[in-house]
Amino acid sequence: MNSKYPDLLHEAEEGMARAYAPYSNFRVGAAVLTRGGKVYRGCNIENGSFGATVCAERVAIFKAVSEGEAAVEAIAIVSANDPRILPCGICRQVLWELGGDLDIVIGNASSVEVLKLSSLYPQPFKKT
Ligand SMILES: [Zn+2]
Repeated sequence: MNSKYPDLLHEAEEGMARAYAPYSNFRVGAAVLTRGGKVYRGCNIENGSFGATVCAERVAIFKAVSEGEAAVEAIAIVSANDPRILPCGICRQVLWELGGDLDIVIGNASSVEVLKLSSLYPQPFKKT
């Protein structure tokens, strides 16, 4: 795999295996890589009360933060439904606040793209 993050997309696919998406059938996986080299996987988790649904990206970064990780380097995101899935607006804000201008890794084994979060979310909300 031609990437700075050779295993991170695979980790995201492993995360996607646990997706709970009975309502949308839109399965997503994510994997956060910390600067210390640890990986935290996430998957989307839906709920019959739709507002309680959480995206894979937030599950992964919340897991990292809840384990005491403060320095995040990258997040890989995959979906069985969309080969070029990007984080939603809420996740962009959360990723920015908790991970800064991290690398967003998308694609598959044959084609990997690495984008800076700032290119997707150039003017984040900042509480003053
Ligand atoms: Zn999201």
